[in-house]
Formats: sequence, C-alpha cells, structure tokens
Amino acid sequence: MRNHLYILKVAIPVPVYRLFDYLPPLDLDPKTLKPGIRLTVPFGRGQKTAFLIGLDSNSEVLSAKLKRIEAVLDERPLLSDRDLSLLHWAARYYHHPLGEVFSAAFPVALRQGKPATIKAEKFYVLTEKGRLLNPEQLRRAPKQKQLLYQLQTERDAVPASRLNAILENWRPAAKALQDKQLLRLEGSAANAKTHLTLNSQLHPNPLQQEAIEQVVCALSRFEVFLLEGVTGSGKTEVYMQVIRSVLELGLQVLVLLPEITLTPQLEQRFRQRFSVPITISHSKLTDTQRQQAWLGMQRGDYAIMLGTRSALFTPLARPGLIILDEEHDASFKQQEGFRFSARDVAVVRGKLLNVPVLLGTATPSLESVYNVEQGRYRLLHLTERAGNAAPPKMLLLDIRNKRMQEGLSEPLIAEMHKTLAKNEQVLLFLNRRGFAPTLICHGCGWVARCRRCEANMVVHYDEALLRCHHCGSEQRLLPQCPECKTGQLTPLGLGTERVEKALAQLFPGRSVIRLDRDTTQRKGVLEDALDRINRGEVDIVLGTQMLAKGHHFPNVTLVVMLDVDSGLFSIDFHASEKLAQMIVQVSGRAGRAEKPGRVILQTRKPDHPLLTTLIKEGYGCFARSALAERQLAELPPYSFQALLRVEATDSAVPLQFFEQLMQAVEPNRTVRMLGPVPAPMSRRAGRYRYQLLLQSPTRPELHRFLDKLMPLIAGLKLTRKVRWSLDVDPVDLY
Ligand code: ADP
Ligand code: ZN
Ligand code: ZN
Repeated sequence: MRNHLYILKVAIPVPVYRLFDYLPPLDLDPKTLKPGIRLTVPFGRGQKTAFLIGLDSNSEVLSAKLKRIEAVLDERPLLSDRDLSLLHWAARYYHHPLGEVFSAAFPVALRQGKPATIKAEKFYVLTEKGRLLNPEQLRRAPKQKQLLYQLQTERDAVPASRLNAILENWRPAAKALQDKQLLRLEGSAANAKTHLTLNSQLHPNPLQQEAIEQVVCALSRFEVFLLEGVTGSGKTEVYMQVIRSVLELGLQVLVLLPEITLTPQLEQRFRQRFSVPITISHSKLTDTQRQQAWLGMQRGDYAIMLGTRSALFTPLARPGLIILDEEHDASFKQQEGFRFSARDVAVVRGKLLNVPVLLGTATPSLESVYNVEQGRYRLLHLTERAGNAAPPKMLLLDIRNKRMQEGLSEPLIAEMHKTLAKNEQVLLFLNRRGFAPTLICHGCGWVARCRRCEANMVVHYDEALLRCHHCGSEQRLLPQCPECKTGQLTPLGLGTERVEKALAQLFPGRSVIRLDRDTTQRKGVLEDALDRINRGEVDIVLGTQMLAKGHHFPNVTLVVMLDVDSGLFSIDFHASEKLAQMIVQVSGRAGRAEKPGRVILQTRKPDHPLLTTLIKEGYGCFARSALAERQLAELPPYSFQALLRVEATDSAVPLQFFEQLMQAVEPNRTVRMLGPVPAPMSRRAGRYRYQLLLQSPTRPELHRFLDKLMPLIAGLKLTRKVRWSLDVDPVDLY
C-alpha cells in the first residue's frame, strides 16, 4: 500500500468525544508507528501533542483536506500495551474523551511534548581501595571521613539522591574521594549488586505475619486485598515486608498515598529500610522532577515509587505490586476534568498487569467492605495496635447546657489541664478554618454573603478579611454594618483561628500551634511544625483534617473533636461514612506509643446512633449498619450512579439545557433520573448550578444509557453555552 492510504487515528487532549485523522509523515513508513506514541499535530491555529491510537485505510474526511502530522515524538510508546488498554477502559468507563485520559497518564512535561529523556541518576561505588581504607586515615578531612564511613556501611552503590537525604554538602568530599581513587561513579544501579534492606525489619506479630504471608503467596497473580488495621496496628510494616518480597523477585512497587500523608517522614522510613532506588511523585515537585520519576520507573531504574493520585498511571518496567494506603480517602477521587477514582482504576490496573493490589486503611470505604462481603476482595484484619500501644478510650462529652468558652466546655478545659500537667500533649480537632464561618449584624440581621456564591463569607481576623471558601473572593473586613450603618457586626460560629485565640487566654504560658491550610501554605512550615510537636516543644496542637491522617505523635495522649454535630445533618448520603472515618482517624492520633490515649467528642447529640454505634461497637459495626441502610435505600454500592452537572452564568440556561436533553432522551425503565434539581450549592463563582442524578440497579445498564446520552449532549445547541461534566460513581453530590 502506498503511504497516502494510511490514515493516522489520533487522540488529542481536548474535550471532544472523537478521534482525529491525520496523514502520516512523508519520511517515515507509517507501519513503523506504534499505537501510544506521542505526535505533534497541527490543530486549529496552533499545534498540540497528540497520541497515536491506530492506523486506518480510510477517513470520513476527504484526504485532500487532511493535515499531515508535524512530528513523531517517540520511537516507541512509553506505555505498555496493557497500560494502553487501561486508558481505553478508563475512557469508556468514565465516559471521558480519550485524548484527555491519555494526557492525564503522562507527566506535564511529556504532555507538552518534551522529549522523553532522563537525566541519569549517578551512583557512587567504592573502589577496592576505598572499601579497605580505614576511615580514621581521613581524620583531617572530616567530611570525607564521614562519607567514606557512610559508603562502607552501605556496601553497595549509593545513588546521589540517597546521599542528599543523609548528608549535607557531600559533593566536594565525593569529588576528593574520587580524586584519591577511593570512589567511582556508575551510570546505573544495574551494575551494582544491591542487597535489599538496610536496617532490620521488625518482628511481625502473628496478625501481621498472616497478612504478609497471604499477600506474598499471591505475588505473581491478580488479587485484591483489603488490609483493615486499626490505627497504629502496623500496616506500614506489613507493606514494607511485602515489598521486600517483591523486590526479591526483581519487581517494582507502586505505593499510592493521599497527598497529605506523603510526608518526608514516611519517605525517610522507606529510605531507611530499603537500599534500592526509591522515587517520589506528588504535586509539590517540579515538572522536571515528576518527569524524571515517571521515566525512571518506566525504564526500571527505580524499584519503588511513593506517589499520590496522579502517580497511578506511572508505567512500570517490571510491575510487581500496587499498594494504595488510606483507600477510603476522598482525595483518591479526582474531582475535576477526568473524574476517576484512583482506587478503582488501581484495581483494574492490577488485573490487567496481573499483579496483586493491596488496599490499606483503618476505616474501609463501604464499597470495599461490600466487595469483601461479595468475595471480590480478600480481608486481612489487624485488630490490635502493634508494639505496646493500647487502643485509645473514646468518650462522648454531652455539652448540652454546659458553659462554653469559644467552643470549649468546662469539663473539657479541666481534662486538658490535667493532661498538660502530666507533660503530655493535647490535640484539638476542628474542621473549619478561619475565625468564624458567619458575620452577622447584631442590629439588623444582615449577613455577609459572597457575591458570586450561594454562601456566607468566612471571617479571617488575622488578615482582616472576609473570604469565600468556595470561590476565593475576598473583601476587607467591614468596620460597620453596610445595611443599617449602626449595628455591631458579630462573628457567629467557630473556626480554628478563633479557638487559637481562646486557647491563648485559657492556657497562658502553654505553647499552641495551629495547623490548617491558612497557616501551612509556605513550604516547609508543616514539616517544621511536625518536628516541633515531636520534640515536645508544643503543648496544644489545633488543626483541621490535615491532622487526621498518618501522623505519629507519640506524646499526644488526649485528642478532642470540638464539634462532631455539624457533620451529622448533611443531605449527602456519603456524609455519615465520611464523618465516621474522620472520627476514627482523628482518634487514632491518640496514645500511639507507650502512654495510653483518650479521645473526647463534644456533642449535643450523645444518643445519635452513628456516634453510639461507632464508640460502643467500633467502625466495623458502624460500616455494617450503614451498608444495611444503603441497601434499604437502594443506594451505592447496591446501585450505580452518575451525576450530570451543568452550570452557566445565566440562571435560566441550565434548566433549558436539561429540558432539551430530556426531550431527546429515550425513556428507560431501569435507569432512574433524579432531577434535574439545583445543586445543593446552587451558585458558585458566579455560575448557576443544576444537576441530574442517574441511578441504575446494574452497572451495564447505566453504561448503556450513558453511551447514548453522551452523543445527545454533544449534539445539543445549548451545550456550547454551559459548562457540563459527567461524574461516574460520584462521591460528592455537591
Ligand atoms: P499504621 O500504618 O497501621 O498506622 P505503623 O506501621 O505506622 O502503623 O506502626 C505503628 C507503630 O508501631 C510504629 O511505630 C511501628 O514502628 C510500630 N510497629 C509496627 N509493627 C510492629 C511490630 N511488629 N513490633 C513492634 N512495633 C511495631
Ligand atoms: Zn445592620
Ligand atoms: Zn464565593
């Protein structure tokens, strides 16, 4: 066949549900172009980085009109065939344009068409002479002595990144050792035989042992494990011992974590345990660093990647295991653009790669509990805290009719004094930042509202601002009521800033630290604060959900949730699950070491079944009863949902859009359409929002319906006037 008979089918990252046709380059045999490679194509008035999907011999477009691609960026696809099928699956399942799905799998730099080259990491290896030299002979050059000593204890090739982590300013010393022929540089770790672990692993307790064995037995096939372990039960230790077995097989491990738990402390823990090359990937890294990490895994240079949601699609040269820690965490769901669940896609990826997937958490999502019941996931249960730590005691503190000072009841204040007197730390949790969520006029009842949202402005006293937490609008704090000009403006309700000020009054001489999004914006602040807490320089830690996860504070013995009630009355059916998870996770920060911990929940609803079940019978029991309720109400996981959101600056347009859509849709007996209704937050950032919830007893039926719905939406005239999105398996109905 001659060249012009080949048409390239190309996916371009634009919000359009179709592929694009291009002519192959003149100077290349199109048959050598493999699906998955990146291309530069002319598009509109500019150009885009696109992905080759396949070759075809005909096109709906007249070939005279077809444009030719401008450049072939990859000789070979960067993703394996299995990962390419994963992307095709994800585009179908989430009904999202294939080009955008492809794009999401690549780090930004590669999406922009940068060459897939990698700055090879250098490895330092001692020469024979270097291995035998007594470091004492270098005592006049202390840095060199220290470096030599370090390299001798590690014995194997050491990557520069590891030296960065353990020694400061070591490069001049390395240069000097090289000049003395004690040390040489290697281009790859492959040349250097590695032994896998550095420090010895802990002796697993019987439950940990059982969990480790089960996963290790499954290492060469697909199976999903749910490692349910109470906080502090040693899940991370289980991960690390399983990982060790994967490394022994010469395979790679992808560990996914919520953004906030991927702390330098955790990275340190992995680097101290394993001597293999480890890389990390999260949103605070530069584009270049993420590209390095991605390509390093793809080439097999690294054995372990610790990453957040966006690391899910990182190609693995030798896939061995996928771990997803804190599987219940909402941050695994992408909430904009390509709305995927990293947990669910990880499971499919494990299946396609034929490797086990290990989901860990103290508070499994109801979906995962259900999947265990259905026999789809295997449960590994760690019911006790590891080491000597005892489970925290939980107490509901009824604050009805109690005297309160800025959200702190008198009995609570007394308990805090007792704890502090023993030189132990207190952690206060309040999931609302700012000073107060509402500003109201005492004279006329005027309330400060956001001009662009259906929401109140939040008072931020420190910055003398009113700020909307939904759209970010700000305005200066008003000196007087704009309505009646005389009334006194009164902040209503509690935020962390307000509690912080109250604590300074109530506990003079005690050091208080506040950790929320407002106080930890600058890089390094959070890490510093965590170090100070662990050094015992802080008495009272106050914060938002940022504190809930992962952190290990050995001297915190009293954990307080100032306000659990506000979570009890949400209209979203996911809210009770999220609240229960939050309570258990926050409680888990108490008494993680030798000293026993206590948890106090302030509530005006001490008889609420969610609270009593959770506290008397534990999370497992709560989860079972919550599942039973979902079953009765035919809610997920007993049914399947998709949420169509539509918003526009003109308040009438979303409903007109839905009207047109409803006329075009064929009625369906199985798929229920709930709505369209105004979104619970009916206006945000100046746009009016409506939504239609689709619910079906079976997944295939829902997807068949969506398959028909998508082209209808694309064909409507009003589609161009609205912003719309489809969310399959929504976890947030706002
Ligand atoms: P999780 O991830 O479940 O919260 P970690 O793995 O962080 O728990 O373990 C909690 C604490 O218990 C850590 O300090 C860890 O070193 C310790 N630990 C874990 N397993 C053991 C064990 N088998 N023996 C002694 N201590 C352990
Ligand atoms: Zn007023
Ligand atoms: Zn707003």
